[in-house]
Amino acid sequence: MIDFKNVSKTFRLGKREVHAVNNVSLTVNEGEIFGVIGFSGAGKSTLLRLVNLLERPTTGTVYIQNIDVNSLSSKELRARRQNIGMIFQNFNLFNSRTVAGNIAYPLKLTGLSKQGIKNRVEELLRFVGLSDKANDFPNQLSGGQKQRVGIARALATSPDILICDEATSALDPETTAEILKLLKKVNKDLGITILLITHEMHVIQSICHKVAVMENGEVIESGDVFDVFTNPQHLTTQRFIQSVQ
Ligand code: ATP
Ligand code: MG
Repeated sequence: MIDFKNVSKTFRLGKREVHAVNNVSLTVNEGEIFGVIGFSGAGKSTLLRLVNLLERPTTGTVYIQNIDVNSLSSKELRARRQNIGMIFQNFNLFNSRTVAGNIAYPLKLTGLSKQGIKNRVEELLRFVGLSDKANDFPNQLSGGQKQRVGIARALATSPDILICDEATSALDPETTAEILKLLKKVNKDLGITILLITHEMHVIQSICHKVAVMENGEVIESGDVFDVFTNPQHLTTQRFIQSVQ
């Protein structure tokens, strides 16, 4: 579904080079919830930006559904982006639009009729459990409710892939658990492949099937969550394990 083959992303800061992503190879299979964990600066967000087509690799190839992302024209890139939903740590909602307006936003480019958009928004609100909040504005919502709106908006165009950048890092433990439960439902009921990044070990443990541990731009180990965390090969992985004990 998503394949990284020897992918590197280097930023040039004057004379200095930052190897944000360094020779990463990994595969996210269809239907998986794949977690990437790493400390600050490990390269997690850069990795996601390569998947949602906001960055191009310096070397190596990113394939999404067997298509080399680098071979796409700008027009094709825009079309492919509709197939990838994204949610953020700070929700990134439009504060001047209602909940329904936020969710309807990505549908405006799809050619769907007004009634079609209304029906789809109602369906999405039901799915995330916010039918009674359609006409509220984001500043009237709790953090967890805001993230539910973010998820509904990300799902509006029926993407095959959902990308989550620290989606629960701004939430308290109870609300985090609710959002993780909703993400599980997104994966199971809608068959959407999820790629998430986090620095929180318990997020990986509670919903991910697979995990990759990143450090200094490199994937230092990866595999089934159970295997990686029962038999950690690296000190960094051990530190994450200790963080929840
Ligand atoms: P955090 O957990 O703090 O969000 P991260 O794992 O997401 O960290 P990245 O944001 O991917 O890390 O950054 C990896 C490295 O690449 C860092 O050293 C960062 O400073 C650098 N970097 C990221 N984006 C750019 C850019 N646009 N220009 C220059 N350097 C960058
Ligand atoms: Mg980041």
